[in-house]
Amino acid sequence: MPSFIKSISKPTTPMITFENSKSFADKSDLEDELAYIRDRFNIPQHDGSDTVYFCGNSLGLQPKNTNVYVNQELTDWAQLGVEGHFKKDTGWFAYHELVRDAAARIVGAKPIEVAVMNHLTVNLHLLLVSFYRPSKDRYKIICEAGAFPSDRYALQSQARFHGFDPDDAIVELEPSEGSDLIAEEDILQAIEDCGDELALVMFGGVHYFTGQVLDFKKITEAAHEVGAYAGFDLAHAAGNLKLELHQWNVDFAAWCSYKYLNGGPGTVGGIYVNERHVKNPHLPRFAGWWGNDPATRFKMPHQFTPVLTADSWQLSNAPILEMAALRASFELFDEAGMDRLVKKSNALTSYLKFVIEDVLTSLAKSDLVKIITPFAEQQQGCQLSLQFETDGKKIFDSLTSKGVIADWREPDQEGRGSGVIRVAPVPLYNSFNDVYRFGQLLQEAIKSL
Ligand SMILES: *Cc1c(COP(=O)(O)O)cnc(C)c1O
Repeated sequence: MPSFIKSISKPTTPMITFENSKSFADKSDLEDELAYIRDRFNIPQHDGSDTVYFCGNSLGLQPKNTNVYVNQELTDWAQLGVEGHFKKDTGWFAYHELVRDAAARIVGAKPIEVAVMNHLTVNLHLLLVSFYRPSKDRYKIICEAGAFPSDRYALQSQARFHGFDPDDAIVELEPSEGSDLIAEEDILQAIEDCGDELALVMFGGVHYFTGQVLDFKKITEAAHEVGAYAGFDLAHAAGNLKLELHQWNVDFAAWCSYKYLNGGPGTVGGIYVNERHVKNPHLPRFAGWWGNDPATRFKMPHQFTPVLTADSWQLSNAPILEMAALRASFELFDEAGMDRLVKKSNALTSYLKFVIEDVLTSLAKSDLVKIITPFAEQQQGCQLSLQFETDGKKIFDSLTSKGVIADWREPDQEGRGSGVIRVAPVPLYNSFNDVYRFGQLLQEAIKSL
């Protein structure tokens, strides 16, 4: 492990100086105890060599073992037909249990609080059925302005479904004046101001656009203080941050598994529901047979008896092939562990920030790029959002043509800058050399403007 990784996780010790050089990147990769895991992934190619793949926040890469896990289930299906439901160890009847514990470790929850099921927006709706039950007096929802559209649509349609005008029911918090970020004080103040009217607070744990990370614990406490629930969308947080959902007392959360969790395009997502809620059979929820107590599920009872775990939010039997793909990735998460991943992530992203700033300084172009992602080593996701003053799209296209895979976002509605490039060095498969190469290619792109 590079020596600076330790110092980065302890802000009291001075950081060792990064260098924007090939030799520094080589040395850091050599010392990185997780570096070997890169070889367990298929890295997309460009002109015969590895791309600089910084898009794991959008679609994670494919573990080489994904084939093995998925093919096993295809073979079992071919050979066993319906009997595959009860085969030894990996029977489809309880296949979702094979991914549950690893998912719980990733989000910092007890296994009974987690179910791998459905897809993100579907899961948000199912959770809102339980956690948004507004009354005439308590019906407001606080969320961030500029939330991912699907989350907004979900909240708006839920408000309407209950007979409320979304413009009245939903309080969208804007970034503070002159900033791209929502100030934590503003969130806490808004919660206090809504008081008895507040039913629910729902935020993205990592903002998909700016990369801002919120304080889950503080927000949850503040919501509980006024008698509201707190839920989080973990699309950009699961597999990226060190989460402690149970300890933070978060009420519910949902995520997708195709971003940092590397489950493959559109694969099965997951939910977390706090223990005190899963143990409450009276909490309303939509029901289906896969949420029934498995002891009686196949007896097809007339009355639904929820199993007292997060599984009771499941409706349908499990998508086995998607879960098989997820197992390949979870195997790697378990091998690395979130603690080591987050440590490496902090080092890699700090290095990326350093390299970008070094390139800009050396070209006397410091004003060209603003890194809008706030930087706090203790709780820093791996993504950086680079807002370009001018020429953003040109630079993005140039990077793409040279083998960088990143993500382009048009300028925001306020028209600040000329658009944003999001880059996410992912600790499972990205290297210090990826970061160094990115810097070199960024330099070339800016020079050729
Ligand atoms: C990626 C993402 C989604 C996608 O939702 P799906 O239901 O999986 O298509 C939703 N919300 C956020 C915040 C996201 O980042």
